[in-house]
Amino acid sequence: MNDQYAVIGNPIGHSKSPLIHAAFAKQTGQALVYSALLAPVDGFAQAVDAFRAAGGRGMNVTIPFKLDAYRYASDLTERAKHAQAVNTLKFEGARVLGDNTDGAGLVRDIEHNLGFNLAGKTVLVMGAGGAARGVLLPLLACKPSALTIANRTPQKALDLAQRFAAHGTVRASDYAGLAGDRYDLIVNATSSSLNEQLPPLPPRLFAPGALAYDLMYGKGLTPFLAFAEANHAQILADGLGMLVEQAAESFYVWRGVRPEAQPVMALLRNAA
Ligand code: NDP
Repeated sequence: MNDQYAVIGNPIGHSKSPLIHAAFAKQTGQALVYSALLAPVDGFAQAVDAFRAAGGRGMNVTIPFKLDAYRYASDLTERAKHAQAVNTLKFEGARVLGDNTDGAGLVRDIEHNLGFNLAGKTVLVMGAGGAARGVLLPLLACKPSALTIANRTPQKALDLAQRFAAHGTVRASDYAGLAGDRYDLIVNATSSSLNEQLPPLPPRLFAPGALAYDLMYGKGLTPFLAFAEANHAQILADGLGMLVEQAAESFYVWRGVRPEAQPVMALLRNAA
């Protein structure tokens, strides 16, 4: 029987992961089956136990289970420890490796696919939730000159800035406090676009040549990307590239083979 993998979440019907991993398996000639698993919100551990007992080799984890997966893992990678969230589980007998590939996916999309070199750049990350926690260490590892975290609830941004202070020049701000700043990269890691909203950003934040990156993806421009376009950001990107690149990184963790993400990104864009 082919090796079994799955994405677990609630809801899960919208997930593009089965399509992405089927495309990766075909591209790399890896014999595996990848399905979507809906688990009750209070039934994560039981659902994973059952999947493992049936021979499952690994899982992707999505909303609302990334913290449950963090607790479930017996071993954590450094990036999962810093994110305090797990989106990739690898089952090795009694051991369970917990990893977080979201930040690596973002950085790979920015540097490799968009050709935007992060070294020496000024970076603003909006948001202080799970997604922001996941991307901070991989972003800082690329040696930006400074990184600012802004959040609606400023205390959460302050807590994150303190936690990541050892990894680079990191400061926290509320949105009003950003007035007068200029950034080469602004990452929207809030969930505001889900509600067609926009954090209260002051104008003129984008430096010449700036990249605006929204973790959310979908048809057309998100409110943040529309704001960025109106405020002369040079490059606009949504989170589809990150989604496919984090999946490629998970595939690599499981199989030791790195698939090419760009053909699969094109497949998803054409299907949208
Ligand atoms: P969380 O619920 O953990 O955090 C939400 C964050 O958004 C908080 O910082 C919250 O601020 C802020 N926020 C929510 N609404 C607003 C608003 N109207 N104005 C300003 N700030 C707001 O969510 P996640 O971190 O898990 O996810 C964030 C986004 O990232 C989602 O859209 C998700 O789909 C996307 N994502 C995309 C991925 C990809 O592969 N492309 C991977 C992972 C996530 P406060 O603290 O004040 O409540």
